[in-house]
Amino acid sequence: MPNSNTDKLLLELVACERCKNPFMMNKGEKLSKQEKGEEIACENCIKLEERKIKLELGVIDSVIESHKEIEASILEVKEKIDISKAHFNKQQFLEKIKKKSEALTKSIELLQKIDESNEEKYLDKYKKLFDKLKSGEL
Ligand SMILES: [Zn+2]
Repeated sequence: MPNSNTDKLLLELVACERCKNPFMMNKGEKLSKQEKGEEIACENCIKLEERKIKLELGVIDSVIESHKEIEASILEVKEKIDISKAHFNKQQFLEKIKKKSEALTKSIELLQKIDESNEEKYLDKYKKLFDKLKSGEL
């Protein structure tokens, strides 16, 4: 067991490069990170980044899924037109595609805001929007 007094001496207060908040780091860790060109980031910022990466991967999946869905609807519509022009609700179909593309645009805007601000509120907004896209509500 290392002596706790010695442990304290081995810690130093450093400033997070992202949020500028001070936090404790092992002595020498900052220097070694700087030498490797790594960022000095506090635990909160690292956690936020992890959440962001997960969400960004999520939005890529969602965009791909939506594209597939739109393609599928176009094919479906084409078949319907071939069968009977009368039964095809073009307006409804266009509305559906419009809604989906608006939601995707919004999600990209939110991702940009998350990138610029690192604010949790945008992450929460984004998460809600993404869930709706995923569930097919949008
Ligand atoms: Zn930070």
